Amino acid sequence: MKILVLNCGSSSVKYQVLNMEKENVLAKGLAERIGLKGSRVVHQFNDSKKIIDVDLPNHKKAIEVILNLLVDKEDGVLKSLKEIDAVGHRVVHGGETFFESTLVNDDTYRKLKECENLAPLHNPYNIQGIDACLSLLPGTPQVMVFDTSFHQTMPKEAYLYALPYEWYEKFKIRRYGFHGTSHFYVSRRVAELIGKPVEDLKLITCHLGNGASITAIKGGKSVDTSMGYTPLEGLVMGTRCGDIDPAIPLIIMEKENISPKEMDNILNKKSGILGISGISNDFRDVEESAERGDPKAQLALKIFAYRVRKYIGAYYAILGGLDVLVFTAGVGERSPIIRRMVCENMEHLGIKIDLEKNEVKGEERKISAEDSKVQVWIIPTNEELMIARETIRLISKLGIQRR
Ligand code: AMP
Repeated sequence: MKILVLNCGSSSVKYQVLNMEKENVLAKGLAERIGLKGSRVVHQFNDSKKIIDVDLPNHKKAIEVILNLLVDKEDGVLKSLKEIDAVGHRVVHGGETFFESTLVNDDTYRKLKECENLAPLHNPYNIQGIDACLSLLPGTPQVMVFDTSFHQTMPKEAYLYALPYEWYEKFKIRRYGFHGTSHFYVSRRVAELIGKPVEDLKLITCHLGNGASITAIKGGKSVDTSMGYTPLEGLVMGTRCGDIDPAIPLIIMEKENISPKEMDNILNKKSGILGISGISNDFRDVEESAERGDPKAQLALKIFAYRVRKYIGAYYAILGGLDVLVFTAGVGERSPIIRRMVCENMEHLGIKIDLEKNEVKGEERKISAEDSKVQVWIIPTNEELMIARETIRLISKLGIQRR
């Protein structure tokens, strides 16, 4: 079975075609700068790379170009688009409507549209991707895999804010959590690697990328997660502030005469590691400056690691113990410095990493010391594979085939 996985952002479409017999990637790439000058598609297949400069006025055109590349006469990886058995779409926000991956049909599409405003920066583009596929690949099953659905198992005390209750009833204001596909994938993968059913484990999974979140997983289910109503809450991130006193934006808005939109932009795009260091949102740049002795870069990393440690402590408490701590995503997979800073002086919680084993980038590996009570692992995330697996699982369960 061959599955096309699409992840549509505001100006980009990331894609992969996977052959699910061996779960290998046949082609992958990125259409970028959609709707902007200088748009292009970077297409990778069979160890080759093609860069196509092409006008991409909208997502539909981008997906059309991608599909043409997949069936290109000379170096296409498919003979025909009919080889695509189904499409798996990453959808950021499924609200309280979608507890699990869902097939697109008239009813679910209508319900998805109702969730559009919950994630105005993401869902409209995810929907555009679905629209494009419905028209370019008619008869091919489309599956939506939600970033939020893994967290729908959180208990009410974890997902409700101490705000007027009618805001929840009227506006659905609550914690939803994100990166669910990643937290789900690494939790299952690590359980497989240590040879225990995930249902028997207490896990804390740290997805540390440009966006960062941390999840407490008990019996295979998300019981709490750091991102909230939006992906702004929780850990310090590349450009996002994470947890702050909610009074601060109100005070600064008044003092500096800033609009809600401008404040939103500052909290999402000018804060975090970038805001503190004044250097970059990329951890590589900040780590380099910190090594050269830049005090603000050093402080930014310290604040980042401190926040992760604080959450580990909190989740340890609510889980009532911990079996495995997992690091994943760009920083979690590739930064030995951050992993060391997070795990430093955590022996009292039974967390001890082996500093030599920790000196690795992007490898699936156990990095805890032999005498560590808690196992610590690096598990490179694979959201595309997870989306493809979910897509197959669902169409097989429903007995659906392409028409
Ligand atoms: P992601 O959002 O998961 O793609 O992660 C992207 C982030 O990972 C980038 O912003 C970088 O800050 C970080 N990153 C990638 N490679 C490294 C590395 N070798 N060391 C530290 N951070 C890295």
